[in-house]
Amino acid sequence: MELTQWSEHILLAPFEDERDRPILGYIQGEKYTMAVDAGHSSLHLQEFYEALQKARKPLPDFTVLTHWHWDHSFALPWIHGISIANMETDQCLREVQKNMSPDYARQLMAMEPSIALEYAPGQEMRVGTADLVFDGQMMIDLGGITAVLFRGPSPHTEDSTYVLIPEEKVLLLGDAACGVYPDWHVDPHKAHQMIELLESLPFETAVSGHWQPQTKEELIRFIEES
Ligand SMILES: [Zn+2]
Repeated sequence: MELTQWSEHILLAPFEDERDRPILGYIQGEKYTMAVDAGHSSLHLQEFYEALQKARKPLPDFTVLTHWHWDHSFALPWIHGISIANMETDQCLREVQKNMSPDYARQLMAMEPSIALEYAPGQEMRVGTADLVFDGQMMIDLGGITAVLFRGPSPHTEDSTYVLIPEEKVLLLGDAACGVYPDWHVDPHKAHQMIELLESLPFETAVSGHWQPQTKEELIRFIEES
């Protein structure tokens, strides 16, 4: 796995369509480091951590989830450090955790070839919940760089967390700009609310889960056209 040094304090691990792996973000402060999203599986996470170690970067002190979906969260039981999610995301994960069984794992793999492929090596499918749960907004001073986590409207899920890094004008937003899985329907009202939010935020680069980083204008145009 090749990491990209996006800006002074931000590294990005690449997305992959085949196994539906999202971009994993990494923000390095002088005191603490934070990952954005845990990853699709323990194998995905392991490859990310190996790439960090190769780049001589400390493993994350914090891992924040952008939303509960499996490809962003199922590596949670294996993370280093403290996990963070908003209340809604944590609640969704608690539900999935309750339902998880070998049968449920098989159903998920039958639902999406990308899940079957990710779990093909016989990896265990487990669901973790958050160590730190926030409602509304939360700010973390990583040392010389700040992460602002907050819930916001999105046409993708009801539990979207946005991660703003004001010093570098970067917004990490998971799949928030997409429609609803699996038919990708976009609710125009939610899309409008999200565009209003984006317009009010001080960022220049948007990092979505399954796409190359975009400018703020490109992201807004993408939502308007979907
Ligand atoms: Zn998603």
